Amino acid sequence: MYDAVVVGAGISGLTNALVLASFGKRVAVVERAPQAGALLRGFDRWGVHFDTGFHYAGGMAAGEGVQRFFSFLGIADQLNIIPMRQNCFDRIMTTDYRINLELPVGAESFVAALVAEFPAEREAVTRFVADLLQVADNLPYLNMYTQAIDASVFAVVEDVSLADYLFQLTSNQRLRQVLSLHCVLHGVPAARVPFRFHASVIGPYIRSASIIEGGGQALIAAMEKRLHDCGVDLLCSQQVIRFHLSAADRIDGVELADGQMLECKVVVCAAHPGCVIDCLPTLMLRPVYRKRLQGLHETSSACLLFARCRRDVELLSGSNLYVLDVDSPHKQRFPFDNNMCYLTAANGRNNNGFMAIVPAYYDNFTPWNDSLTGLRPAAYYAEKQNVTQLLLQRLEKAVPQLDNQIDRCELATPLTLRDYMYSSDGALYGAQRQVDDYPLQATTRVEGLYLSGQALVAPGVMGAMVSAFNSCGVILGRDRLIGELKKCN
Ligand SMILES: Cc1cc2nc3c(=O)[nH]c(=O)nc-3n(C[C@H](O)[C@H](O)[C@H](O)COP(=O)(O)OP(=O)(O)OC[C@H]3O[C@@H](n4cnc5c(N)ncnc54)[C@H](O)[C@@H]3O)c2cc1C
Repeated sequence: MYDAVVVGAGISGLTNALVLASFGKRVAVVERAPQAGALLRGFDRWGVHFDTGFHYAGGMAAGEGVQRFFSFLGIADQLNIIPMRQNCFDRIMTTDYRINLELPVGAESFVAALVAEFPAEREAVTRFVADLLQVADNLPYLNMYTQAIDASVFAVVEDVSLADYLFQLTSNQRLRQVLSLHCVLHGVPAARVPFRFHASVIGPYIRSASIIEGGGQALIAAMEKRLHDCGVDLLCSQQVIRFHLSAADRIDGVELADGQMLECKVVVCAAHPGCVIDCLPTLMLRPVYRKRLQGLHETSSACLLFARCRRDVELLSGSNLYVLDVDSPHKQRFPFDNNMCYLTAANGRNNNGFMAIVPAYYDNFTPWNDSLTGLRPAAYYAEKQNVTQLLLQRLEKAVPQLDNQIDRCELATPLTLRDYMYSSDGALYGAQRQVDDYPLQATTRVEGLYLSGQALVAPGVMGAMVSAFNSCGVILGRDRLIGELKKCN
């Protein structure tokens, strides 16, 4: 009998498991993929390691929230956190070469860089950054010492989108486009993403932007070791198909696809929240809640281009690159308000390769919906080739440093994402948060069933970890958990 079974061994599920285990609970984590942290491990190709689901994050500098999480989980001393380039952690370029903006770490420098590019917009830029930080600095569990530790902020229905906010802020359309570029980090277009939600994802990067040496692979390795030390059972290649209920309608176990039953008192579902519909008897969900889960929209999908270069791309050393396409003829492929592309070094050690994320419509690939990776028809590969050529031309034109430098590349389409990340519609970050939506809560009406994961708080390693502390706070007692967290540096 387990005290808790955690469904899903992503960063959120692993964090849930370690927090519960640190309070003496007997825990099992069940993961349907062959390995824990599948999204974060990356892969090796042509002698280059490509990080996939983790490149950089805010909040990891000494004394900041994510660093405190690492200490609490007992993995801080195994992780080497490296600051990104302080004077340019993100670079923004436009395809007409008019903007080449280096965004530095730190609120004042960040504002100054934007004002240098948009001199008439000082007031707008200053307010934007202040508003982002107001949200980011008060995120529950990340900041221990503000009154806003009250997790009820996760329950607020937001009605102001980023686009509405920017429309009120400035009439400068180019500035609005530039300030919307980071939407790629949560996968919701500016017209639909709540401003405060956007701020919670983007704001922390202004305070600090860091990588972990060894990327997501190093993070998962540290967590796996810790799970082992804490006696947590990790069951991979096992899918939870049903939550089992006692006669009193409270959780008393989970059923796995191979027929095994794991008895437990608590289930933390750290997978896509939609899986609750499949795992519970229909009558256990109120119709309105079922409708809410069924109506969840997915975040944007994307084409990911993995490329090896002939030599190091200096531009990507300690910096990411956002390219704003101001003259793309291929608008129909990309769902964002801006046609954009995000580039990041293949990994934190070498810059002789990169990954580019280009938001793309899953629908463009639905003709091959029923096929699986490696077994798709010729027409799919022809389309993939077309898209690859299109992207290469676009990138080499927009970023002169890449011209004639790419010697090998491979495209992952929305279908690849679907099959490798098990996400419906190839969504980059699972279910999306939209204006006017009632946010999902960690607590459910089923006694013993809790939700966690990126859909509950925000995409990103930080958001997924905050969601885990939030769900464990509900299970263990928030004051008790925060009391222990405060002891960590
Ligand atoms: C291309 C890309 C780049 C990214 N870059 C960054 C970055 O630079 N910085 C950053 O902070 N974040 C980044 N992210 C986002 C970040 O990786 C995610 O937000 C985070 O890893 C999500 O963690 P999670 O635990 O909530 O979800 P997941 O990692 O999706 O975990 C859920 C797990 O549940 C499993 N599962 C589902 N159903 C079942 C079931 N029935 N039974 C058992 N297991 C089940 C799934 O297989 C999955 O492993 C990136 C994401 C992508 C896709």
